[in-house]
Amino acid sequence: MIELPIEDTGSNYALHPTKIVCLGRNYRAHAKEFGNEPPTEPLFFVKTPTCLIPHGAPIILPPPDLCIKRVDHEIELAVIIKHSCKNVPSNEVMERLEGFTVFNDITARDLQREDISNKRPWFRSKNLDTFGPIGPRLVPAGSIDPGNLDLTLKVNGELRQHANTAAMVFKIPEQVAFISRYMTLEPGDIIATGTPHGVGPLANGDVVDATIDGIGTLENPVTASR
Ligand code: MG
Repeated sequence: MIELPIEDTGSNYALHPTKIVCLGRNYRAHAKEFGNEPPTEPLFFVKTPTCLIPHGAPIILPPPDLCIKRVDHEIELAVIIKHSCKNVPSNEVMERLEGFTVFNDITARDLQREDISNKRPWFRSKNLDTFGPIGPRLVPAGSIDPGNLDLTLKVNGELRQHANTAAMVFKIPEQVAFISRYMTLEPGDIIATGTPHGVGPLANGDVVDATIDGIGTLENPVTASR
């Protein structure tokens, strides 16, 4: 069980998602860096709670027998659902949110490309164990404006990703309203709102710092599998 300290309260929020719904290509410059147009409606996929790890825990690279050569970082603003959402109108979304934290949508990029080119789901490339660092704390909804937050990701101190959530193609109310037309979002579910440009590979021994202003820095080392 991962617990996030709740800002200014001294108490913790225990993560209990049934699913992590992730937006794809939700920043134009990131869609473009892989030769894609931004989608005309929210594009989403699911990660399973088994991939989650807390602030400070290692991202473990896949074992050699899986022949995965490239594992990427993707900083994202994460939204946690407080009240169940089904067919929720976009103007009622914000009152249904618990709060915000930082998520790193770790991706086996070469496996994802291979599966896409073979018209297979990209599920496995997103769901290896430890591919969902989250934290370091929860900022309650209402205390920050999620539509105007700087995101910065550094690897070993080197800047890789830097953008603002204002550049999202689909804003949080549209995302949640759209997803809730297809599936019920349960209390505790996590929405990962997409990554900006600058995604890149990780290697054994790296240290990844993912920072969102007003929330904090999610730091995770990268290790080879044992
Ligand atoms: Mg992503």
